[in-house]
Amino acid sequence: MDIADLYHSRISNPLLNTSYPLHPEDWRQYKTSGTLSFEGEEEVSFYIHIPFCPHLCSYCEYTRMLLPAKEFQQQYLDTLKTDILRFKEEHPNLTLRGFDIGGGTPTALNDDCFNTLLNLYDEAISGMALATDFEPSIESTISLLSTTKLAAIAHHGIKRVSIGLQSTSAPLLHEHRRREATTEELAQVITLAHDAGIKKVNIDLMYGLQHQTHESLLADLDVIQHVHPEQVTLYELRTNMIHQNPTHTIDWLFDAYSLLFDRLTELGYNSQFGQNTFSVIPDDQGLSSYLRHRMLQGGSYKGFGISAQSMSHKGLAYNKGKNLTHIAELLASNTFEGGHTYRLPPPELCSKYIAIAGYGGRFSLRHASELLGTDAQEHFHSQITFCMQEHLLRYSKNDILSITPKGFRHHGAVFSLFYLP
Ligand code: SF4
Repeated sequence: MDIADLYHSRISNPLLNTSYPLHPEDWRQYKTSGTLSFEGEEEVSFYIHIPFCPHLCSYCEYTRMLLPAKEFQQQYLDTLKTDILRFKEEHPNLTLRGFDIGGGTPTALNDDCFNTLLNLYDEAISGMALATDFEPSIESTISLLSTTKLAAIAHHGIKRVSIGLQSTSAPLLHEHRRREATTEELAQVITLAHDAGIKKVNIDLMYGLQHQTHESLLADLDVIQHVHPEQVTLYELRTNMIHQNPTHTIDWLFDAYSLLFDRLTELGYNSQFGQNTFSVIPDDQGLSSYLRHRMLQGGSYKGFGISAQSMSHKGLAYNKGKNLTHIAELLASNTFEGGHTYRLPPPELCSKYIAIAGYGGRFSLRHASELLGTDAQEHFHSQITFCMQEHLLRYSKNDILSITPKGFRHHGAVFSLFYLP
């Protein structure tokens, strides 16, 4: 099938977004034993996964579970510490590009355990060279950001907080088993964060939730205008990841994104059409340095905690565990390492990079070339030629291929030409 036929055969396939591989079995041939090698790496980003939440939202695709008792939280952190210190001991000369603490909801931890987590963050970065643009970040929700926790976050040098708001519609959130927050509560938390010394607050919004309307998105944007966080990130609900049928058409999703994009840029946020991050700060991509390194530059990352993902120039790995029972077993062995490891050939490494970067609407041919070990422009000649002729992609910088508004309507079909050729 030629590229044009391939593209047209994919434009109505909701399974093709930026998930790659589509099924874990697709990588069966690359499965290997042991942990992922970081040999030869000079730079890496760290990610800590805290999988606990006080309630479980129905649309959530992440590995998360109800917050266990304090003792269990502490044991989880003890195991994290063992894994982190072991990795550091085995890789003493890495430069740290970024550090995200996510989940789950890390700030759901009991106050003592939260302090333990932040001390662990200190231990993790201690003695490591930090990149000049190192910008750690932590995820939270409005109801789990007390003054004490915000002060502790800032005290430990974490100056970016990402808050999951998702929607301001109470009925919509209740329908998805999530609690709402008022505009006043959100404004208060942002003020408290700034007062504590946190420089960037990001608000996550979702579009594509079941029964969500364009009117409710406009109401979300009114709240954003009122509380004016430094950054906003838009997440499209990708129903294939939570094994549901699509709740909105491709055209509805496109119109929803367009509405959000137009209004956010009117409000002074910088972005480009097709990108999912917005920032009022000039020359800011709206991302933590972990995400910048991982999504824009194809950088290697090491994940700690249950089911966390790691990637190096050798392949990709997932830690063990999916639920509380698994964690209990893993605590006994004092490690989350040793899940599935895939030793990937260069084209698969490049495919994974493009799929990850595609979430932000663009990818770098230079970084694709580094992963491929050959010139990506030549390697993808037919895909690039087709996408240029059809105005699906454009060059936004010398080596960056960005999705166009026409391409964004079927972004899964466009980007998948590069990772499912
Ligand atoms: S609070 Fe966040 S991580 Fe927890 S279940 Fe809801 S969406 Fe998922």
